[in-house]
Amino acid sequence: MNQAFRVRLDEELKGFKAAGVYKKLNHIESPQAPWVVMEGRGKVLVLSSNNYLGLAAEPEVVEAGRSALTTYGAGTASVRFICGTFTVHRALEHEIALFLGTESALSYVSCWNANTGLTATFLGEEDVLISDELNHASIIDGVRATKTNRKVYKHSDMKELESQLVAAKQARHRFIFTDGVFSMEGDLCRLPDIMDLARKHDAIVAVDDSHGTGVMGRSGRGVPEHFGVHGLVDVVTSTLGKALGGAAGGFTAGPLALTDYLTQRSRPQLFSNALPPTVAGSALAAIKFVQTHPERVETLRSNAAYFRERLKESGLKPLAGETPIVPIIVGETSLAIKMSERLLEEKVFVTGFGFPVVPQGHARLRCQISAAHTRDDLNFALAALVKIAREVGLPTRPTS
Ligand code: PLP
Repeated sequence: MNQAFRVRLDEELKGFKAAGVYKKLNHIESPQAPWVVMEGRGKVLVLSSNNYLGLAAEPEVVEAGRSALTTYGAGTASVRFICGTFTVHRALEHEIALFLGTESALSYVSCWNANTGLTATFLGEEDVLISDELNHASIIDGVRATKTNRKVYKHSDMKELESQLVAAKQARHRFIFTDGVFSMEGDLCRLPDIMDLARKHDAIVAVDDSHGTGVMGRSGRGVPEHFGVHGLVDVVTSTLGKALGGAAGGFTAGPLALTDYLTQRSRPQLFSNALPPTVAGSALAAIKFVQTHPERVETLRSNAAYFRERLKESGLKPLAGETPIVPIIVGETSLAIKMSERLLEEKVFVTGFGFPVVPQGHARLRCQISAAHTRDDLNFALAALVKIAREVGLPTRPTS
């Protein structure tokens, strides 16, 4: 390798380690589930995965992937418009649209691709994209890759959003893009307000519901269902890599003209392979599973509420919210990392997030709750969290 490049990599990696932001991968030897076997650690309880409904290892979901592999083989071996697309992709897209109450849906190999494909296809110099400051990196990077005008409003600040809509009134299109659930805070976008403003100013709304699909709303149809606007948002993007089976993949759902246009012009569609059939088969089974087992969504909701309440009773202060993402702010990045390591020694896997992912001084342990957790699992995690919090001197309430 080029020497100067090598030296640069080594020095910057050293810098990551010195700053305490170097990420070490933990290797897991078993399926993603409440308890996993972690290499070198044995069984640990997972509170850091997006396996919200526990479908990653659900027998029906796994079997559907296996069956699709047998039927279709490993993959299309090219992009869809060149060499054909499997019927399982059509069935998946049809099921997504039914589930979300949209006219159509188009699958991608990731929600990252769905987001970057959406903005790059539709937005140019004559348009304005207006984005919440805490939106996911795929929205931010997707917009950076376009020539469109970008405006960023303070997190959930509807006044600022409205002034940006007014300031951009000459644009061909004003396109508001927001996360449905903000993944580091665990809070919801103010969707009804955003939709009102969009109606008032004739703007388009796109919601990335990656942490909401399968999770929010009475039947898991996502943040639009939670707010009573199921099927009414202009565009929904989401992932199949979290609640809906957890393998990979994403999609864009909306009017048929939109997904048809994306099929014609979206570059991740035109220049990249389709979802592997195993993934499409598993995701399809996962969406059907959610519809026939709404009690999973209810269990997730009650597990999350139980965990939040017990945390508050212990004196630890989770951020307020109604999602299964339960962040506990601890302050400095190094403290979040230290606590995460100590928790792993106690057999609880919770990731610590620090700067630059979250603002300086707001490092956190982000707990993620699953419907597959039992109350015993949650109590085990709570006891470990309180023990480690006391060890590092965070305020907790004395146990009676
Ligand atoms: N959007 C949001 C809000 C996410 O949290 C994520 C994953 O972290 C993504 C998009 C990317 O999803 P995928 O893994 O399907 O690319």
